Amino acid sequence: MRSHPSGPPPERGLFCNRTLNLRAIKAVGYDMDYTLIHYRVEAWERRAYEYIRDRLEAQGWPVGHLTFDPALAIRGLIIDTEKGNLLKANRFGIIKKALHGTRAMEFDAQRDEYSSTLIDLHERRWVFLNTLFSLSEACIYAQLVDLLDAGQLPGPMGYGDLYEHVRKSLDATHMQGRLKAEIIADPERYVIDDPETPLALLDQRYAGKKLLLITNSEWAYTEPMMHFAFDKHLPQGMTWRQLFDVVIVSARKPEFFTTRSALFEVVESGGEALLRPHSGPLKAGTPYFAGSALELERHLGLSGDQILYVGDHMFGDVHVTKDVLRWRTALILRELEDEVRAIAAFRTTEAKLAERMVHKERMEAESCQLRLELQRRRAQYGPREETPPEAELVARQVELRTELEALDAELGPMARAANELSNPLWGLLTRAGNDKSHLARQVERYADIYTSRVSNFLFATPFVYLRSPRGSLPHDPSLPGGTPVFPSSDSGGGAQGGDGGE
Ligand code: IMP
Ligand code: MG
Repeated sequence: MRSHPSGPPPERGLFCNRTLNLRAIKAVGYDMDYTLIHYRVEAWERRAYEYIRDRLEAQGWPVGHLTFDPALAIRGLIIDTEKGNLLKANRFGIIKKALHGTRAMEFDAQRDEYSSTLIDLHERRWVFLNTLFSLSEACIYAQLVDLLDAGQLPGPMGYGDLYEHVRKSLDATHMQGRLKAEIIADPERYVIDDPETPLALLDQRYAGKKLLLITNSEWAYTEPMMHFAFDKHLPQGMTWRQLFDVVIVSARKPEFFTTRSALFEVVESGGEALLRPHSGPLKAGTPYFAGSALELERHLGLSGDQILYVGDHMFGDVHVTKDVLRWRTALILRELEDEVRAIAAFRTTEAKLAERMVHKERMEAESCQLRLELQRRRAQYGPREETPPEAELVARQVELRTELEALDAELGPMARAANELSNPLWGLLTRAGNDKSHLARQVERYADIYTSRVSNFLFATPFVYLRSPRGSLPHDPSLPGGTPVFPSSDSGGGAQGGDGGE
């Protein structure tokens, strides 16, 4: 069954930062939530938000009127817990856009606050929105900052304390069983069905790869959700448990990748799941609890470069895995589909913008030359060449200034539209102004490949050799018409490679 016989649409591509030969991969590990199973983000996050809000209301906070705003935050933003702000930064950590609470900061206020600040995510002050699970947290935090500023929250409390309250409530929401029980009871409402994902995994399994499920979700949630998402799409008589060689639940990523901890077998007994300490080889079809990646590598008898891990959490699934274990990594970024479509729809305006920018740069260069000429003439230094009289140079300068002002008026709406693609408040996920966003930088550093969903592996087959494009650098020569000689993967719309192959 191939639902895209003429090849996948551009937004369903596998985008490659570092060359990856899938034939050399012996085991593929998968995260579950937002990787193998994709949720209806608005439905899930609204529910999670309501749980957080209701917990705070039960503690006496005046928050009953607050409602979830799905457009207020996007993945890849950064919370400044010291100042109560929500930020978008570029690849250098320079802050390009800021909200204080839910209100956009004026340019001057933003400059005063951040002109000498670079974001370093190692510092506790900054909280990166790593996954789609972060949207409820960012939304309620921003709204609560407004209430705190209005003196409506119990005090004394700073923006940092407020963030800790939100975090605790979010943790409790995910960990206590009520929200998960709701999802299990009505999965159609929360899960987007994708019959191509089980097929992509079957392809990999029959191509000889070991499949691993490594999820932070607990067994009581994992089992019914995997059953719902997979079993109906598998061959008659097969269940999802037969698809995987190893199943690890409550993995506690990122610690799973960095530290050794005890491994337990999940023993199902009369509808209950009990834990029994485990040592020795892992049995296929048996779920395990916790343990560590080092133990798993030993069990598989594989080195890091033979294992590909696929997940949606920028830090817990991809960053740590690459940094600590040198596993090969794939990031699932569902928003990429919208992003690529928005970029394609904007192409005509973008071409016009680029053409007008070339014109603007030419005029600016001429204006600079004129200014320098006048400066040398007035100070009487430099080469003496036949040049028009000073009055003529001054007149041309005035003319250029007027033309530049008119051009800026023409460029303004186009540049604004470029910054509002996909999300009017924040723009594209992978861009910040003219540059790559902080998220895009992390993607290219830590994800060998990135793609919108697991089922995109289907089109590439388990035998694909993915090659990174030659990255474009500012000094790369251009072909006529401004096309770089070394095209980057930018035409795909996402972050691009450049670290070379491995
Ligand atoms: P995974 O993506 O399959 O590893 O599973 C993610 C699990 O972590 C799900 O069970 C989520 O409910 C849970 N989770 C996501 N965000 C948070 C959080 O902020 N605090 C606690 N648990 C979380
Ligand atoms: Mg996940």
